[in-house]
Amino acid sequence: MSNSTKYVFVTGGVTSSLGKGIISASLAKLLQARGYSTTIQKLDPYINIDPGTLNPYEHGECFVTDDGAETDLDLGHYERFLNVPTSQANNETTGRIYQSVIEKERRGEFLGKTVQVIPHITDEIKERIQILGKKGTFDIVITEIGGTVGDIESLPYVEAVRQMMWEFENDCIVVHLTLVPYLAAAGELKTKPTQHSVKQLLELGVQPDILCCRTEHELDLTLRKKIAKFCNVSMNAVIESRDAESIYDVPLLMQAEELDKVVLEKLGLHSRSTPDLTVWKSFLKRLKEPKQELTIGLIGKYVELKDSYKSISESFIHAGVANECRVSVKWIHSETLTRENIHAELEGLDGILVAPGFGARGISGKIEAVRYARENNVPFFGICLGMQCAVIEFARHVLGYDDAHTTEIAEDSKYPVISMMEEQKSISNLGGTMRLGAYKCQLKPASKVSKAYKTESITERHRHRYEFNNAYLEKFEKAGMIATGKNPETGLVEVVEIPSHPWFVGAQFHPEYKSTVDNPHPLFVAFVKAAIEHKNN
Ligand code: GLN
Repeated sequence: MSNSTKYVFVTGGVTSSLGKGIISASLAKLLQARGYSTTIQKLDPYINIDPGTLNPYEHGECFVTDDGAETDLDLGHYERFLNVPTSQANNETTGRIYQSVIEKERRGEFLGKTVQVIPHITDEIKERIQILGKKGTFDIVITEIGGTVGDIESLPYVEAVRQMMWEFENDCIVVHLTLVPYLAAAGELKTKPTQHSVKQLLELGVQPDILCCRTEHELDLTLRKKIAKFCNVSMNAVIESRDAESIYDVPLLMQAEELDKVVLEKLGLHSRSTPDLTVWKSFLKRLKEPKQELTIGLIGKYVELKDSYKSISESFIHAGVANECRVSVKWIHSETLTRENIHAELEGLDGILVAPGFGARGISGKIEAVRYARENNVPFFGICLGMQCAVIEFARHVLGYDDAHTTEIAEDSKYPVISMMEEQKSISNLGGTMRLGAYKCQLKPASKVSKAYKTESITERHRHRYEFNNAYLEKFEKAGMIATGKNPETGLVEVVEIPSHPWFVGAQFHPEYKSTVDNPHPLFVAFVKAAIEHKNN
């Protein structure tokens, strides 16, 4: 094997939403399964520093890494496919790149030179592409360029790719993802958009090595030949990427098209033995042959855009497979739930999950959903704001604290059972007060959570400002809601449970960020198992 890190750039043409993230993750999976340590990076051309302050309706879920980076949801796919944690370096944005260049300018690092897109911004981009390579842990770094080729915002990124292709000639390739649409009226697949999009790349000085063609129908030999000829790529580098039933099918579809083989060939790497995908294949088999079906209600306020809860819905797929069942998620808008309609709306669900979130909208519906689950012994899982709602609900209806609330929503509540810790209050920058990333948590022996994890010491990722107010802990525990997980350093409550309930767990952290195909998350697995038991009783 060559000593230098290899770089694979993935660009997209014709239209957005072609699934660059899934193609990148699938290619990485195949290379990893051949024994190459591989990571994936996403470069987002928007000017926000990170998606942390973005409304989920804009870009879907904000994914959080161990080191506390708020990142694009594609990083979730990378982790779920590869089972290797990502970090801040795996996600860069134009905002971060400009911020860093401007800070360098203020420090005088450019020695009085005029600071320009080329070379200063492009140098910064190239440096950030190589950070992961320089770590020395990865043989191959796949860098996904967000947006569509031709967008004004992505020009500096394509230019950085062009320069790297020139500087590291033997260590870089470009995989271009494009669309081959089917025109029903003509009854034909059309290659013109692909030709145009490759032309656009060529105008920017980049010749793609491999074309991944998204299509709804088979790309026959004639079409492949035509694309190869017009786009200057070899025949075996025209890869068909058909719509798949599940994103988890894509690695196998790409393997059938020999994408990994062609990539290795072009990078000058040996194609070591065939990829070992035993675990993956057995996951897929169980995914497609579930023994039963469950319905779990997901109560949230962004349910119109399911990408807002991407990691949660994927966690249910993993946990379903682990339990040999299919979990169908019923998306329920918290704003529509009231005391009056709650029975009608939630009846028949096998489990209830109250989702994370920020702000007051829909909070009363979430609290009603918790109450329904608690009073009717329906398995309940509250995540972050969902856990906080469980605490508020318990305070109001079990402890009798009428106006109990979180200070996020009711600053003058008489019973601030969820509140901001003193140290956090002084930090005012948006984003600055957030507890982000991995923290340790110690679990109580014999609790439902320690049984699920099969250990008492865990690490989970956080993204929130408010915390359980420990001034009330004794009252809660006496009344039957127990803190079964605590931060060993700060004593902050990380998990609450009601032991007298069949399965009632609230977690201040976000378990969904750590569920992968190889390691379905233990809390989701236990929750789904409890839902099966509830259903079968
Ligand atoms: N809004 C709550 C807080 O900041 C919960 C955040 C979340 O659910 N991610 O503490």
